[in-house]
Amino acid sequence: MSLKADQVCFTYPRDVSRRKILDKVSFEVNQGEILSILGPNGSGKSTLMNCLSGLFKPNSGDIYVSGQNVKQLSVRQLAHKMAYVPQTHNPAFSYTVRDFIVMGRTPYINVFSQPSELDFEITDKMIKELGIGKLADKKYTEISGGERQQVMIARALVQEPEIVLLDEPTSHLDFGNQQRTLELASNLSKRNIAVVMSTHVPDHVIMLGDKVGMLDQHGHMEFGFVDDILGEEALSKLYNFPLKMVYIKEVERFTCIALKK
Ligand code: ADP
Ligand code: MG
Repeated sequence: MSLKADQVCFTYPRDVSRRKILDKVSFEVNQGEILSILGPNGSGKSTLMNCLSGLFKPNSGDIYVSGQNVKQLSVRQLAHKMAYVPQTHNPAFSYTVRDFIVMGRTPYINVFSQPSELDFEITDKMIKELGIGKLADKKYTEISGGERQQVMIARALVQEPEIVLLDEPTSHLDFGNQQRTLELASNLSKRNIAVVMSTHVPDHVIMLGDKVGMLDQHGHMEFGFVDDILGEEALSKLYNFPLKMVYIKEVERFTCIALKK
């Protein structure tokens, strides 16, 4: 099982500037691996996620799931393999959290059927596993942004995907919940899921390790192993700000700090 992008290009159809948001983006992430995507605001991280999830069609280039071109997969077939947690989600209806999560089972439910007992069993197991039992009967519209993020992840997981796309899952979370979300991403990879996650925090990428893609304002993505390509020079250039990598012996890893001008 793997997710592969091969020379993916994307321009928004109605963008008069014809800017290439993605310009020959290529990478490969295999089962049990994590790919973190870094990039400044507006560089195209969410656009890339939308292309990977099948929501947007690239102008050129291909995306493969386990060697199969996504062009040849139906929405339902793709949903059996891949779950997507978008950056923002503004709910229109006030479902309970439990009902909202069970909707993640949609790819397994017949068009005119209701969720089965098994679907609710899987949902309740996931609610327990993520420790969000106290939210289950609350309305989705009446929980906090951080709680909503956890619920969205639960909904993605009941889909039983092989690939999970997480678009800035930590951006609205407090420090503790950020760390817990990173642990969750790491646990997904231990379950042999391939994880693609965007973040604004280089430290998160260092903590997760594995692979990284650095997407710049021109649509170019530098892709490789964190240990090989994530350095002071690359990050300073990416964010157009001087920074330093400092080794912290207590945690036996580097951390990234901004250098005050
Ligand atoms: P990121 O997630 O990295 O912040 P996005 O993928 O959301 O970046 O956006 C990348 C660029 O595409 C931005 O400059 C944004 O303004 C532009 N953009 C996003 N959506 C559209 C759209 N529907 N039409 C034209 N341009 C868009
Ligand atoms: Mg975004």
